[in-house]
Amino acid sequence: MSRRILATCALPYANGPIHIGHMVEHVQGDVWARAMRMAGHTVHFVCADDAHGTPIMLRAQREGITPEQLIADSNTQHQADFRDFHIGYDHYSSTHGEANRALTVRIYEALRDTRHIESKSVRQFYDPDKDMFLPDRFIKGECPHCHARDQYGDSCEVCGKTYTPTDLIEPYSVISGARPVEKESVHYFVRLGDFEPMLREWLAERRQAGGLQVEVVNKLEEWFSDGLRSWDISRDAPYFGFELPDAPGKFFYVWLDAPVGYLASFSEYAAEAGLDRDAFLEADAAAEAGTEMVHFIGKDITYFHTLFWPAMLHGAGLRTPSAVYVHGFLTVNGAKMSKSRGTFINARTYLEHLDPDYLRYYLAALLGPTLADLDLDFKAFEERVNSHLVGKWANIASRCAGFVHKFFDGRLTDAIAPELRQRYDDAVARLQPCAELFEKREYAHAMRLVMGVADDTNAWIAEKAPWKMAKDESQREQLHQVASMAINLFRLLSAWLKPVIPATVARAETFLSSTSSQFGDVDMPLAGHVLAPFQPLLTRIDPKKIQAMIDDSKSSMNAAPAPAATPATATQPATPTIGIDDFAKLDLRVGKVTVCEHVEGADKLLRFELDAGELGSRQIFSGIKAAYPEPEKLVGRNVVFIANLAPRKMRFGLSEGMILSAGEGGADLKLVEVDAAARPGATVR
Ligand SMILES: [Zn+2]
Repeated sequence: MSRRILATCALPYANGPIHIGHMVEHVQGDVWARAMRMAGHTVHFVCADDAHGTPIMLRAQREGITPEQLIADSNTQHQADFRDFHIGYDHYSSTHGEANRALTVRIYEALRDTRHIESKSVRQFYDPDKDMFLPDRFIKGECPHCHARDQYGDSCEVCGKTYTPTDLIEPYSVISGARPVEKESVHYFVRLGDFEPMLREWLAERRQAGGLQVEVVNKLEEWFSDGLRSWDISRDAPYFGFELPDAPGKFFYVWLDAPVGYLASFSEYAAEAGLDRDAFLEADAAAEAGTEMVHFIGKDITYFHTLFWPAMLHGAGLRTPSAVYVHGFLTVNGAKMSKSRGTFINARTYLEHLDPDYLRYYLAALLGPTLADLDLDFKAFEERVNSHLVGKWANIASRCAGFVHKFFDGRLTDAIAPELRQRYDDAVARLQPCAELFEKREYAHAMRLVMGVADDTNAWIAEKAPWKMAKDESQREQLHQVASMAINLFRLLSAWLKPVIPATVARAETFLSSTSSQFGDVDMPLAGHVLAPFQPLLTRIDPKKIQAMIDDSKSSMNAAPAPAATPATATQPATPTIGIDDFAKLDLRVGKVTVCEHVEGADKLLRFELDAGELGSRQIFSGIKAAYPEPEKLVGRNVVFIANLAPRKMRFGLSEGMILSAGEGGADLKLVEVDAAARPGATVR
């Protein structure tokens, strides 16, 4: 029976770029949507940017732009990244839109009118310089347990204990450096405990229908037994978000309106595409229509999606999720992604070096239905893609296409010999379980079946040795049979790989002159069918490209917006005091600019050569291009630079130090200058 499904991935935060850690989820969701469609179901696949909250507001301030500008730029970049990774969203929106505002207000008013909202006064830290309440992550201080310094307001990264910001010793505001004061304010809460019976029922139903993983069910049971606490859903101005309709100066907490973005994005899409929106979103209409709503999320946001979210929806007469599929995190080379190791790789950096289908295949070959973390091991990545996709799958076509073209005008045999037809039917039967494996998110298992058939096909071709048959005029008919069957098996495998590597399979389908939109399309082999000329489908991964991607990821950290390329002290007004010894560790010197020029291919960088006296000549890349559009004018000036910063290999060359500048970043940066009489190489004290 054909199902109608609304599928979503968690909304990426608009505060930063898409990185390969995000891709686990978006690839998982996209493969699922494509596979379900090929199995004959209707899937509407939508997403959006999560655009609200304090970090967005502060970053926009720092960059001297409006939050609207910031989130619009992010949205453009995010959409381009997903598109180029072949993540086929039907619609990609933003939580900062009218559809989302209307739905958020509807949910809030419904909860309020049914007395599930309460308000109470809360004591919270307040930044007296910035005139704003501080989120926990914007307060730092000494850990009350182990006395480690500079720990966040919610938990200590050294001893791992959690606490509230008011427990911190010597707290300070990360934004202004000021000592925060405690202040009272009225906050609004959703009484989550009211929904416990409803949530237990939802859980029981989902458990039965398979919409929740067993680990998630266990976690929910644990949360129930801990007791469900009311959820603080308001934040005080200044805040970037939606204002409460009945409480001026109070804004919805970003986590209230973020998941509503799923519905808003779908509403926009439904209007555009002429779909029956209510049949997917309204509780009664959805129950009647039998539609489904499926969310793909990371394990860190399970609480929001399995407690708050179903409760909010139910309270407002909206449909609850049919399934919440939770996945683990991505590690790289066995460790957490790291900027300094170059393993914190942005989607765009990956795309500049490697084919997205490589990563899609690698992730699919690892993905199972559990919450286990996945490791991107570059050696395994290279080996698996080269051996599976190039060596097994593409190899079948590249070995046999030539015979069909050379001897048979590109035409497959009209009458397939019975024993070969049997081989084909066996392969069809062996791959049949993949449809269900895709549905259950057992992609790794599905890929093993596909590669198993590819292996057997290659072994069979080797046994038949069509290259020997080709030399013998009397074996033309056998050659035609074998080569045609090999191409047919290649087509069968391509259909089952299509949800995973759609762009590569599209190239294969051009060669095949045959497109499959459903798995069932390949149940029968092609006969008497004419192929297009064969073009190589994909190349082996060159390990140099992986290394170049890692190097770029390291250097992009240098060329990144203001904080990394300019002294951090210039953008963060107050940091804890240091001793004179700490200062003495910095070797600050005067350098006279001898060369200053644009760098080909770098948006933000200028390349400097400095005369550093007894230290010789230094090359330094500095991210101040926006501030100095005519770099040649800097030649002859004295600048201050850090001479003992570890040299950093960038895409454009080695950077041997850091030039100091002041300002908020972008066009606002000004070089720190020294009197023209200062001697190059002189120490700055
Ligand atoms: Zn601690």
